[in-house]
Order: sequence, then structure tokens, then C-alpha cells
Amino acid sequence: MNVPIEIQLLTNSGKQPAASSSITITEAVNVGAESTTEKQQAQHINGVWTNPVTINKNNFRFKSLSTWSLNIAVGCNHGCRYCYVPDTSTNKQASKLREFGITDPDAEWGEYVLLRPWDGGRFNKSLHEAETTGLDELNPDGNRAVMLCTMTDPYQVLKGRNAEETAKLNRDRLRLVRNSLRRIRDYSTLNVRILTRSPLATQDFDLFKTFGDRLVFGMSLPTLDNDLARIYEPNAPAPSQRLKTLQKAKEAGLHVYVAIAPTYPECTEADIRTTLRAVKSLSAVTIFHEPINIRADNVARIQAHTRSIGRALNTEVFATPEAWRKYALSQLCLVQKIAEEEEVADRLHLWPDKSLKSKAGFQKMVMRGEAATTGRKLSAIERNAMNNQLNTDFAAVDSWIDSWHERISEWPGKQPSQWVRQQLPEFMTQLLKAA
Ligand code: SF4
Repeated sequence: MNVPIEIQLLTNSGKQPAASSSITITEAVNVGAESTTEKQQAQHINGVWTNPVTINKNNFRFKSLSTWSLNIAVGCNHGCRYCYVPDTSTNKQASKLREFGITDPDAEWGEYVLLRPWDGGRFNKSLHEAETTGLDELNPDGNRAVMLCTMTDPYQVLKGRNAEETAKLNRDRLRLVRNSLRRIRDYSTLNVRILTRSPLATQDFDLFKTFGDRLVFGMSLPTLDNDLARIYEPNAPAPSQRLKTLQKAKEAGLHVYVAIAPTYPECTEADIRTTLRAVKSLSAVTIFHEPINIRADNVARIQAHTRSIGRALNTEVFATPEAWRKYALSQLCLVQKIAEEEEVADRLHLWPDKSLKSKAGFQKMVMRGEAATTGRKLSAIERNAMNNQLNTDFAAVDSWIDSWHERISEWPGKQPSQWVRQQLPEFMTQLLKAA
């Protein structure tokens, strides 16, 4: 049962916030109720943010997801423990978030969602700016697409203090998404990329269909193990539900893509193969993949959550840069290997983090691994002897990473780019065997 708590909101200056800054706090809200009956004990803040929904150029590099972002809210009820978004919230919006009672946007991630209001004039202005931006000013890998959403989920469930407020919040959320999509469709030539974890997106399949080749619909599907996913994504709908939603999207004639991202340290070869086989049946436009990258306090969030639920996870992979590097490279090349074997590699698009391009980091990882294998510290002579080989290995890995960073993802109706997939470097194959 939700227990409403009335609070008086004061801004930092001690003044009452603007009327549009109204908030609702409820307890025991589980926004992933469609996937689990477990109640979340944390206090929840759902309300209305100050700035309206607009289309903004994003700074994505090496992901080939979109050129612009459209975010309907600040915060996300799904509360994925590894989420990279709080970093941005913390840096850019921390003082404003304090006015809503959020003191630590990173630690409290998953406990607040502030829906942006609708302002048709502001939206049209941003749409016009995006539409009239010359191709020479755009990153070519963005496919001229607007992504819903990059910093929240467009189809999450919002909960108010009572049934009436809950209904209103969710009506507003739906209206924001639909108003935005209809205007993009009718008053621009921009493409749209939808990314969600929620089956609620089926409500808008008819609208998506009216875009034809201009829209791709995708879901994040790191694993098909519902129990494992619930640890890392405590409030998001179960992966089995997401797969069903993707299948429905395919049946409805939509162009679908899948982000097998991020795969967790516990995802085994068998687990990843199961996911890739299921995705294969969808004839996905593109299959993206990445492991968990370390961003701001996401490791601390994973560890705190793991402790709170009394589960032992393989968090040692985040303990040192070398351990993370090994986990990240191992999973990336494992996914490429399985994709080759399952004959879906032509649609695979890996996202190696740019920090993997550090030669010093790579050398440390290999040296530490060698020392662990031999059971002793390497002598200076042995280290020197390894250096030539390391230079060759790193050059191969570096070029392999560059090739993924240069890849432009597929778009329906568009000629695929001339990108040529590189074989896994020999060193990576050995790493995989040792992993
Ligand atoms: S659904 Fe996306 S934005 Fe929301 S918490 Fe999960 S990773 Fe972050």
C-alpha cells in the first residue's frame, strides 16, 4: 500500500518553490509492478520538473544511436544500479534537484522522477532548429535520429499519492510522448529511435507504425535471466516481458533493434548465447552490446544494493582498472565470437569504452595477468621481453576498437555503410580462453 507523506517544500533560499515544482512523495512504490510484486521500501518522489520537453543535440560518440535526445523527465523509476545517467544529474542539476528534496541524485537514483511539462512553442522551436541543422554540422553516425529517451525511460509507470494523481501523472507522461512524436512526424523529416525496458510501449505501436522507415523501436535486453536482471535493474520489467514486447513489435511490422547492454559480470557464455539466439529470431536492424562501464558512483550503487539484498555478486571485476579492463574486453570479444557462431555478426555493433584504448592500462592488465599465472612478480628482464609482444598485441586491439568506433549503425531503407568487420585479434581470442 502506498503511504502518502505530505511535506512542505522549501527551496535553498527558504522560499516556496514555483507552482510548477509541485512534488508527490509516496512510499513502497514499485514501478516495475508489471514484472514483480516485490515492494520497494525506498521513499519515492514523482512530480513536475521546471523545464519543458525539448529536442537537444547530444554528445554521443562511438555509439551511433542518435543525433538528438528527447527526455520526458529528470530521473528514472527503473533505478538500474549501473545506470550512467546520475553522473549527469549530479554534475548539472544537483542544486535544482535539492529544491525537490533530492540531496544526493546519484545515491537516490531510482527514487525520483520529475516529469517535464509540455510547452508547444518551446518544443516547436527546438524541432525547427534540429530540422534545419545542416548535415555538415552533424555527427554522421547519429542517423539524423531523435532518441526517446537517453536519460530516462519513456514508458515507465509513475505513481502519485492516490489513484487520481497516479492516473494524471501517467496520462501526462503518455501525452508528452505522443505530442512529441506527432510533431516530429508531421513537421520534420527527422528519424526517431525509441529505447525502453517497458511493455507499456505497445500502447503506441500504432503511432510508431505511421512513421514507416523513419522509426526504429528497441529494448535493452542484457540477459534473459529474470532473477539476475532483478538484482541489477530492480524496478524494471522482466527481460522475458521485454522479449515478448519485441516479438509483438516485430509482428506489428515495426523495425526493431536490441541493446544487449550492459551484460553483467555474471552473464556466462551460455546466458549470452541464449539471448543472442532469441534476438536472432527478431531479425533486428542492429544488435548493440557493451559491458558495464564505470561511471561516477555506479559501482558504489551496485555494491550497496548487493549488500542490502544479501546477494554475493562478482563485484571484484570493478575493484581495479585492470580487473574491469579484463572483464570488459572478455565480454566484448565473447559477444563477437558468439554472434559469429550464431550468424548475426553482420548486425552486431559493439560499444567498446574509449578508456580501453589506453596502452598503459592494457600493458598493466597483461603484466598483472602474467604475474598471477606465474605466481610471482615479473623480473625486469621478463618485462622487457614481453614489451615487443605487448606493442603488437595492443596495436591489434586498438585497431579493432577503432573499427567499432567508426561503425555507423543500420537504418531501414538506407544503404548500409561500407564498414568492414574486423576479426577478433589473436590476443583477444587467448584472453577469452583464459577468462
Ligand atoms: S532504464 Fe535507462 S535511464 Fe532508467 S535507470 Fe535504467 S539505464 Fe538508467
